Parts: sequence; C-alpha cells; structure tokens
Amino acid sequence: MNLIPKINGKVSLTGGVCSYGGQTPVTAANGAGIPREGYVLTVEPEEIKIEAGDGAGAFYARQTLEQLAREGDIPCGRYEDAPKFPFRGFMLDVSRHFFGVEEIKKLLDHMAKLKLNAFHWHLSDDQGFRIESLKFPELNRIGSWRDEGGQKAGGYYTQEEIRQVVAYASERFINIIPEIDLPGHTGAIVATMPELSCSGEPHQVGFGTGLNPRILCAGNEKVYSFLYELLDEVCQLFPGPYFHIGGDEAPKSEWEKCPRCQQRIKDGGLKDEEDLQAWFTGRLVEFLESRGKTVIGWNEILTSGTVSPKAVAQYWIESGKEYSDKEAGKGRKFVFSNMSAFYLDYPCAVIGMRPIYEYDPYIIEGKPIPKDQVLGLEAPLWTERVIENSHVERLVFPRLLALAENGWTAGKDFTGFMSRAAIYTEYLKEQGVAVTPIAECDPHGAEGARMAGLQIVEVVTGFTQAQKDKEQRGKTMRSLGKILLDGFLKRSGYSQDEQALAYESMEKAIREMGL
Ligand SMILES: [Zn+2]
Repeated sequence: MNLIPKINGKVSLTGGVCSYGGQTPVTAANGAGIPREGYVLTVEPEEIKIEAGDGAGAFYARQTLEQLAREGDIPCGRYEDAPKFPFRGFMLDVSRHFFGVEEIKKLLDHMAKLKLNAFHWHLSDDQGFRIESLKFPELNRIGSWRDEGGQKAGGYYTQEEIRQVVAYASERFINIIPEIDLPGHTGAIVATMPELSCSGEPHQVGFGTGLNPRILCAGNEKVYSFLYELLDEVCQLFPGPYFHIGGDEAPKSEWEKCPRCQQRIKDGGLKDEEDLQAWFTGRLVEFLESRGKTVIGWNEILTSGTVSPKAVAQYWIESGKEYSDKEAGKGRKFVFSNMSAFYLDYPCAVIGMRPIYEYDPYIIEGKPIPKDQVLGLEAPLWTERVIENSHVERLVFPRLLALAENGWTAGKDFTGFMSRAAIYTEYLKEQGVAVTPIAECDPHGAEGARMAGLQIVEVVTGFTQAQKDKEQRGKTMRSLGKILLDGFLKRSGYSQDEQALAYESMEKAIREMGL
C-alpha cells in the first residue's frame, strides 16, 4: 500500500485482494464513536463499506479508496483512519503575484486528495489587493494594480469568483481562511487611500521585495471605521470559521513620528508603539469575534501579551519564541509554520522533504507544547519571486506530501515515506502537475550542504537587491545568510563538518559577487 498520507490507525487485512473499479457497490453509514474527519473503510469482495462520523470522514474514505485503487487490486480488510491534527494547511500569497481561479482550483483539488483541510489565502499586501470590494471599488481600481517597468500588472478576484472558489473548496472539505494583513503590509490600501496612513503622502502599489514602512495609522478613527466595513464585506464572502489578520512585520517609524498615534498611546496609557499595535489588533479581534470568527495572526500579535485568548497564533518566526512560549503557557492555540521547516518559497536544496516530514511542534526546543494547543501545521508559499503557475507547483510539490503526512499520521518513517512519495509524484505528473524531481528535495551529505549554502545566497540576494552600498550589502547578506542557514541546517540533520561546508560555499558565492 502506497498511501499518502499513511493510514493513522489500525489496518486489519484478511489476506485476499478486492477490486474497486466502479462495479463494487459502496455503501456509507454513520459510524458512532469515530473521531472527527475519521472513517472506517471495510473492503470486501462483494461490497465496500464506509463508516464515518462526519462528511469529511466519508470524503477522506473515498480519497483513500481511490488512491488504493490506482495501484490495481486493493488488499481486502478493514482500515481505521483519523487525523493527527485538526488543521492541515497550505498558504498561497496571491498579492506579490496574482494567480487565477483555475490554478487555485487545481491546488485545492490536490490538497483534498492529500486530506488537507485549510487553504490560507493571503489576499492583501503591499504589492496588491486581490478581493473585489463593492464598498470600496477604488481598492480595485488602484490597489489591485501596479506598474512593473511600464507594464500594468496585478488583478483581483471578483466576488462571484470568490464564491465559486469557496464552494469548490467546501465540496472538498477545505476551509478557506482569508488573510487581510494588518496594520503592516498595507501598501496597496495606503496607495488607494493615502489619508489612512500617518503622513497622508501619496504612495504607489509596491513591486519587489523589502519591508514597506507606509502602514495604516493606528491613531486615526477613520482607519477603524474603514476596516470594520471592509472586514464585514470580506466576512460575508468567506463563511468559514477563521479569519487571518496578519500582524507581522509592521515597521513603526511612521507611528513614532505621528501626532495622532502618539496621542493614542498617551490616551490609552500604552507603553510604546508595540503596545499600540496590540491595541489596534485587539480592536480588530473584538470586531471579528463579534462576527463569529476565530482570528488567526502571525506570532507577532502575541508580543504585548494582551490579545484575546481565543485568537490563534501562527508560529513562523523563531525570534518570537519568548513571548510565544509565555502565551503557550496560558493555553493559547497555535498553528505551526516555522520558517525554517515550512516556507515553500525557499528552494528544495534548503528546505527538503525531511525537515517538513520530521517536524514536531515546539516553541522552545526541548519544551513541547501541550497537544490540545496544537491546532496543526501549515506550509506557506510567498510569491515575491514566483510568477508562473508551474513555478508555484514545483515549489509546492512534492513537498506538500510531507506536510500532508506529518499533519495526518503520527508514526514517522522517512524512508518509507520517500518511496511512497516517489510513486505519488508520478501520479501528479500524469495529472499535469509540475513537480520538482524528488531526489532534489532530499538534499543531504556534503553535496547537499554545499548546495544549501549556494541557494541561501540566491535567497538573500533577492532580499538585499535594494541596498546600494556594496560593503553594507555584503554585510547584510552574510548576517542574514547565517541566520537562515543556522535554522535550516540544524533542522536538516547535517553534521558539523557538513555545516561548515555550507557556510564555506555561501561565503565563496558572496565573494564571487564582489561583495
Ligand atoms: Zn499615525
């Protein structure tokens, strides 16, 4: 049996082989005592029986059946299966580059086959606003487009398209989690309505990488009334239980100089600009909770320790481990997306199948987080440097297989997983999915370490493109490269000697660039 994800439960085979070619009748029944999303599949020569406690479980039983049938005859027997984590997700950034509805549906299709149930849709950022707004059409006229060297680039999903995608996902038991990143990463909103920023100065929808200091003003009441209206409109498009408000990487330089923001800090008895972000976030969380949503935010929303205990933190940046650990101690729930394990925008040579597959949730190493606070895992794909659909697919596959199995199945067996994944990737190719060759996604040994060093240079080159001063750029590349490599190498199980090789090849590549 070459299932991905592997069955997470008991399999009792009777020894014979059964077939499933559309002739064998499949009956479905409610199964008492079966966990959420779980099922019991009984395959007999005359009949195939599916018992499930909910619709998702019955759907997953069919996915299993179809995957088993792809290999021909199915071993007769009883298969009991249920997921390890309730949240198994994938995120696509459609702001940095826009991807059409057909590609989204294709990805949803393959997520469903892998029993993934959360599609986090990063719909707003500095580089474009991607939801049609009937309340604020200017957001689409201005905020959805940017100038790329004289070419108009971008786009947005119409409300009709969004409803279609939501329905398509729902038929596959996938929740869509819309993200409007706030208060940072709001360049597209500020370009449309500069009056909502601190300075009010005109702004252009961004292009490329780097942090944008133009963010929403937290001291202006008009910002909140705008956001309440906008979020209300977005909530109506996405009926799912979660709403993502971003909250990451909000530079505070404008807030420091803004009289309104400073007044707000004073009036609210707030400590500083970080506290002001917490206050800003708190108001949005309160609003969204009143609309019945559970809010998710990147782990920076935890900095102040005051955000609603119901909000879920998405743990991505390990520099935030102290305050995240504190919040974990208070019982907060987390989705895990550690940058060094799950960021699919990093090439396979840096994040291979192994770190994704082997990952066990923790905040501070050696101190595991209680199981009931782990909602699950999610792999994000940021698209600053990803333009083509086929590039999206090559970054997602085969690595999403590792996420799917880690999210569903408790027992780990990397070698067995890799041989099953090799078979699965052949299927993906037959289905017209662009896939990175699986061998490239398991870098190891001296050669793997050297390649990781080289690839990190490519990544930091992108991050530092805007820096003009050569000496400064070299310095940033080295320090950033080291931080990134440290995380990746540790997780990928390289020896001390191999790690040294990775740093050597990074240094050599930076020097060859004349930096
Ligand atoms: Zn301000």
